[in-house]
Amino acid sequence: MRFHILTLFPDMVRQGLATSIIGNAIDNGLIELNLVNIRDYTQDRHNKVDDYPYGGGAGMVMQAQPVYDAWRSVVDGIGRRPRCIYLTPQGRLFDQPMARSLAQEEELIFLCGHYEGVDERVLEEIVTDQVSIGDYVLTGGELPAMVMADAIARMVPGVLTNEESGSTESLEGGLLEYPQYSRPAEWMGREVPPVLLSGDHQKVEAWRHEQSVLRTLQRRPELLEGADLSREDVKRILEEIRS
Ligand code: SAM
Repeated sequence: MRFHILTLFPDMVRQGLATSIIGNAIDNGLIELNLVNIRDYTQDRHNKVDDYPYGGGAGMVMQAQPVYDAWRSVVDGIGRRPRCIYLTPQGRLFDQPMARSLAQEEELIFLCGHYEGVDERVLEEIVTDQVSIGDYVLTGGELPAMVMADAIARMVPGVLTNEESGSTESLEGGLLEYPQYSRPAEWMGREVPPVLLSGDHQKVEAWRHEQSVLRTLQRRPELLEGADLSREDVKRILEEIRS
């Protein structure tokens, strides 16, 4: 899988994705990162990539030409137009199903805005998806691009060493993950739930599933509407609500 990231700050993205699991995936060639510095494509003799907004107002706007030419360099290199995601607080909210669906693509282009944003005309020309990572405004699209690249990359086969840890995680199947414990069995007077020490795999699975359901009910009840629930789960939820 190849991520092409169009940005004014390639070092920020390179450093942000260089460590731990995603860094290893890049080193092993499972993920390829192509950082494209938009400034390299400016035709301005002072290397400018932004200008004042027409109509006045605060801040600067990234100009269409360097963004378009940076995008063109990627598209010409590949020979087709992959999906191009513009990171923007105005976009559709990023979530786990979107990450899963984007992980099916072989190539993805991310366009990171900065300042007040990007000239609308180039967005109309090149962007296929507008995505937000949350209802708050950041200074640039680099952190959102990293967030998306991380969430998508960990769904690429081989990136997680234990494949299972991706499929049982929070939000897979619409539920939050159960609580996790590691050694020692007692810490500061707090004991690990005995069922986890029982060695009975079925009981452990049943307990974990119940914890997932209850935790989702307590913390993110709105997720239950889209979750994969059995009759037993619904019964347990009703018991909990009545108690
Ligand atoms: N003036 C823009 C608006 O009101 O929609 C916000 C511009 S913001 C200061 C600069 C850039 O940061 C945006 O072009 C976008 O690329 C990125 N950005 C900021 N918040 C974001 C968010 N929540 N999700 C995704 N990208 C974001």
